[in-house]
Amino acid sequence: MAVKRGKLIHAGKANNVYETDNPNYLELEASNRISAGNGEKRDVIEGKGVANNTISKAIFTKLEKLGIPTHYVGEGSNDASKIVKKADAILLEVIGRFKATGSYVKAYGVPNMMPFDGVYIEYTYKSDSAGDPRITADAIVANGLLSRRELGYIEYITERVAYAVKDFFAKCNGELIDFKIEFGRLPNGQIIVIDEISPDTCRIIDMTTGQSLDKDRFRKDLGAVSEAYVELAKRVEKMS
Ligand code: 5GP
Repeated sequence: MAVKRGKLIHAGKANNVYETDNPNYLELEASNRISAGNGEKRDVIEGKGVANNTISKAIFTKLEKLGIPTHYVGEGSNDASKIVKKADAILLEVIGRFKATGSYVKAYGVPNMMPFDGVYIEYTYKSDSAGDPRITADAIVANGLLSRRELGYIEYITERVAYAVKDFFAKCNGELIDFKIEFGRLPNGQIIVIDEISPDTCRIIDMTTGQSLDKDRFRKDLGAVSEAYVELAKRVEKMS
C-alpha cells in the first residue's frame, strides 16, 4: 500500500522530514544542501539529493537482506526520498574507520591513511552546540544514552555494517575509508540503523584514480562535487 506524504515537520542541514498518512512512518527527503564544519560552510550541490538517496536506498536494502535491522521501508514520493520507520534517535554518531584520516589524524598525528587492524570504532555525542565531541563507552552508559548491553549490540552491528558497506562500494570501484552511522529505537525497544549512508556520511576513494567520491570534495574545495556524487550513484544503479 502506497504511503502518502504529509506536512514538513523538520528541515535539517541536509534532509527534510515529512509526516505520512501512516503514523509509524516518515518520509525522509535528501536535499541538495551541503554543509561542513558544523554548518559553518554551506552550499547547494545540484543532483546531490537524488544521488544520495539512490545510494542510501541501495545500501539499506543490502543491510536488510543481511538481516541488519534499519529504518528503511521503501521508495518515497520522488527520487530524492524514502519511507522510513519512525524511531527515537539515539544521540550518538558511530564512526567506523578502515584507515586513519580526517579528525583521527588531526587528533593523534598518525600518518594519513594508516590502516587499522579490522574496523576502528569510535563515538561522538550528537550535539551541534557542543560540536559533536568524542564520547567514551563509560560516558555513553553513565549519561544514560545506552545500556552496556545495547552498546555491545551497536558495536556488533557497526562492524557488520562496515564490511557490508565496504563490499558495496568495492563493487562500484570505490574503497570505503570511513563512515558515520546513527541508531534509533523503535517503540518496542528494538535498536535499528537510521538516517542515511551516503557520500555525505562516508569517505570513498576511487580505486583507479585515487580521487575522493564524497563530501571531502566539498570540505577540501576539490571541485566537481556534484559530478562525484552523480558518478557514484550511476555506478550503484548499474550494479543493481
Ligand atoms: P571524521 O571524524 O574523520 O571527520 O569523519 C569520519 C567519518 O564520519 C567520515 O566519513 C565523515 O563523513 C563521517 N562523519 C563524521 N561526523 C559527521 C557528521 O557530523 N556528519 C556527517 N554527515 N558525517 C560525519
